[in-house]
Amino acid sequence: MEKCSLVVPCYNEEEALPLFYEATEKVIKEMPYLEFEYIFVNDGSKDKTAQVMKELAEKDEKVHYVIFSRNFGKEAAMYAGMKEATGDYVVIMDADLQDPPELLPQMYEAVTKEGYDCAATRRVDRKGEPVIRSMFARLFYRIMNKIAKIDMVDGARDFRFMKRVMVDAILSMEEYNRFSKGIFGWVGFETKWIPFENRKRVAGKTKWNFFSLFKYSIEGMVAFSTAPLVWASFIGLLFCVIAFIAVCVLFVRALIFGDPVSGWPSLACMITFFAGLQLFCSGIIGMYLAKSYQELKGRPIYIVKEKK
Ligand code: UDP
Ligand code: MG
Repeated sequence: MEKCSLVVPCYNEEEALPLFYEATEKVIKEMPYLEFEYIFVNDGSKDKTAQVMKELAEKDEKVHYVIFSRNFGKEAAMYAGMKEATGDYVVIMDADLQDPPELLPQMYEAVTKEGYDCAATRRVDRKGEPVIRSMFARLFYRIMNKIAKIDMVDGARDFRFMKRVMVDAILSMEEYNRFSKGIFGWVGFETKWIPFENRKRVAGKTKWNFFSLFKYSIEGMVAFSTAPLVWASFIGLLFCVIAFIAVCVLFVRALIFGDPVSGWPSLACMITFFAGLQLFCSGIIGMYLAKSYQELKGRPIYIVKEKK
């Protein structure tokens, strides 16, 4: 019988995890044609998540866990889970039941009967989300799809049902700065998109706020596109051209009207503006440099304290 591994990254999910397990068990009981295993990854939780995992593992031999030495982030947790997974299929799911397990049979169908390599899910609405956040999210996807040559679907979740070939492809991407939404698109493969309505998390709190999301989106851009570097050079070039035209204009004007000394406030403004612009562009270059530096060090993506 074929096996399916459910990879669940958990950070402070002591309340949600038992509910997740219960709800998922109900669904997989209806899927006797597949063998299941759980890979819970405890991403340095500050609460009793690890204990909950161990209790579940004692009760149920399908349950495996990986406990990190500290918080390495969801990206690292997903990577670790996929590495530990032994299934012919791997599913990534959040612990908070925002990824409905009821979709599993439909996802399995898509991968086995409809010839897809992966069934991915997409929220069709952003209900219950602050308006500004939705606006920025949409903008992010619009920009990303233009500047990175990968397919990124607005509202896509990390909740995916993948064939082993795709999982191996993802595991072969060993970069330190991981941006899964980009990685999933980059590896290619035939993906079926399954839409569903946004759900509230069952318990606990989200780990994201506006600024962490903003930072995450910048990291995504740096990880999957070098377009900002091109913009920086383009801005530089553009202002050279403008300066040249301005010099010509001033020269002609001075010839015709003479050159009384005036206009230092506008000069001060311009100096400030250009200094800012230069720093902005150096900042862009710096971001790429910083990421290259991190990659170069070749540090491990995560460190395991304990596993079963
Ligand atoms: N998560 C994690 N490490 C982190 C942050 C989050 O493993 O540093 C897990 C978290 O436990 C959850 C999933 O990633 O299972 C999604 O997190 P969350 O629900 O906070 O994100 P949202 O659904 O609000 O995007
Ligand atoms: Mg969530």
